[in-house]
Amino acid sequence: MPDSFERIAGHPDSPVILHVPHSSRVIPSEVRTGILLDDAALELELDHITDAHTEHLAAAAADHMRIRPWQFVNRRSRLVVDPERFPDDREEMLTVGMAAVYTRTTHRTPLRPGEFDPNPLLDTYFHPYARAMTDLVADRLAATGSAVILDVHSYPSRPLPYELHADGPRPPICLGTDDFHTPPALLDRARTCLGAIGATATDTPFAGTYVPLDYYVTDPRVTALMIEIRRDVYMTEPGGPPTSGFADLSRALAAFADELA
Ligand SMILES: [Zn+2]
Repeated sequence: MPDSFERIAGHPDSPVILHVPHSSRVIPSEVRTGILLDDAALELELDHITDAHTEHLAAAAADHMRIRPWQFVNRRSRLVVDPERFPDDREEMLTVGMAAVYTRTTHRTPLRPGEFDPNPLLDTYFHPYARAMTDLVADRLAATGSAVILDVHSYPSRPLPYELHADGPRPPICLGTDDFHTPPALLDRARTCLGAIGATATDTPFAGTYVPLDYYVTDPRVTALMIEIRRDVYMTEPGGPPTSGFADLSRALAAFADELA
């Protein structure tokens, strides 16, 4: 397995996958050379775009759980590839230069040259990641009969210029759902357990949740929910350290994710 992502084993009987796609700031040097920003501007962009500390949040939650979940963690920045975006023109974020390989920053300035060819990055990073995540879901289905993908994200308290739905409410906890893959009971449990942290709302300001394409809208044994935590709940924005809210948040996430089936 490449070191650009990591699969961390959980209990053999756990169907739960904590998926952390946006936590890393790591950009390999050969990818860095294709980015137009100077170092200071790149650091600032990473402050805005990175879901900081979410890999530690997932790890802390896993430590609190009675049945350890599986974790799948992207060890590269989403500025390398964004594993959750469609790699083609199905992606609505393509209109703002932020499909699987971003060509624009969060402030809509150029990130990569206009003629940039995304295919080498897709081949090196995107497709292997998708295959490995698909394999993990297949393994959980084979072992337990189901797979529960909990997508762990965070988002800034104030909208960034790239957002397509910036007018919507920005609750402490945004729950992203899918009509096919998010059963009402899973959503209700999230509202109850994560509501201990703050108000929850559904699909605002970010909607949907990640399911590998092989299973998307075909296999109801794969359930999924995106958890978008407003960053002021647990960290100093932008790009700063965790705050005292981090511990409570990790326990609430653990209470929610434990013993899901
Ligand atoms: Zn994210």
